Amino acid sequence: MSDSTTLTALEIDRQHIWHPYSAIGAPHKIFHVESAQGCTLKLKDGTKLIDGMASWWSVIHGYNHPTLNEALKAQCDKMSHVMFGGLTHDPAIELSKLLVEISPQELEAVFFADSGSVAVEVAMKMAIQYWHDQGKPKKQRFISLLNGYHGDTFAAMSVCDPINGMHSLFSETLTKQFFVPAPTSKPGEACNEHDKQALRAALENHHQDTAAIIMEPIVQGAGGMRFYSESYLREARKLADEFGVLLIFDEIATGFGRTGKLFACEHAEVTPDILCLGKAITGGYMTLAATLTTRHISDTISSGNPGVFMHGPTFMANPLACAVALASVKQLLNSPWEDRLANIETKLKQGLSPCAKLDSVNEVRVLGGIGVVELYEAVNMAEIQGRFVEQGVWVRPFGKLVYVMPPYIMSDDELAKLCQAIHHVIKHYHQV
Ligand code: PMP
Repeated sequence: MSDSTTLTALEIDRQHIWHPYSAIGAPHKIFHVESAQGCTLKLKDGTKLIDGMASWWSVIHGYNHPTLNEALKAQCDKMSHVMFGGLTHDPAIELSKLLVEISPQELEAVFFADSGSVAVEVAMKMAIQYWHDQGKPKKQRFISLLNGYHGDTFAAMSVCDPINGMHSLFSETLTKQFFVPAPTSKPGEACNEHDKQALRAALENHHQDTAAIIMEPIVQGAGGMRFYSESYLREARKLADEFGVLLIFDEIATGFGRTGKLFACEHAEVTPDILCLGKAITGGYMTLAATLTTRHISDTISSGNPGVFMHGPTFMANPLACAVALASVKQLLNSPWEDRLANIETKLKQGLSPCAKLDSVNEVRVLGGIGVVELYEAVNMAEIQGRFVEQGVWVRPFGKLVYVMPPYIMSDDELAKLCQAIHHVIKHYHQV
């Protein structure tokens, strides 16, 4: 045990706390947030930053939102938590009803999970249990896309891109899944033969062992911020049905409006057999995720052996999380979110387009509320992060990707400042 009493707060942080994908004691500067309001993070030293990250896709209504605060406080006064085994409560009931209403029609059964990664684990277990109860217990593997990202727990890691998925260290422990190349068909274009054939070949070779195909529809997030054709999703649906495998859509990043549709699968009018939701579900207030499936799959599992779905975490359907999620989804539906997303798309296109002329920039792409500047070379994150802060914005690149997904309430002025800061930092970063 060390004596922490004489250390400053940041020294304690540095000595004792792991941050995401970080080392304890690393010299990287870490920024101490005191409070956050709307689209602004306020640091301890008084610095104000326009937040381009929405805390990794989640804070869609901005920080410190009065309606969400109220929902949380009201639920806290009634009951913060109660076990979900044998008990139920209004926040879970009302939230499940709303999710069933707004998600694709055939999805009717909801499993509340603790995080996005767990929602993916649950989806994979559902698919395996479904086939078990269909008398096909050999169907235990998954087909996934290169450049895909689905989370950090073991089963979720196994379906992430095996090379760039940040998990290669664990490759000997992870279940070997089947991978197809990332789709090359662009949004708005028909699915090309190369993409179709790659998926067909994987299914021809492996369908007997495969429980499901899993993918992030339209936008591959942490595995490369790639956008692809909606027609690929229609192809995947057709091929999954032809070869008797399920289709899982991981909409943990894309769900709740981010791509301009409430769910990205709506771009293709394709319904998956299993849908994973998370991140923005609580407006970024706390961790909650949900895995939705069809009546057919839930009935098959319920009438099979052992006749129950084999998952049930301690904090399942936490009432505080469900109450704030209910308030967040209602807030979204009651807001002009489609207009806001269309406006963010326009402003990001305008604001980021000058970046395309910079020598260090390979491509600028924008879809809905997502703006990406892809560089030719990976940035030094520790260095570039400080430069964004100097410019008054919070942007956290990874590898070659400088990207933003702002809260939906961001003003035109804030969007313009965010884009100008990105242009400025990239332009000068590569001159040194
Ligand atoms: N799936 C996707 C598409 C994600 O973007 C993420 C998180 N980046 C996850 C799953 C994992 O979610 P969580 O971090 O909540 O476990």
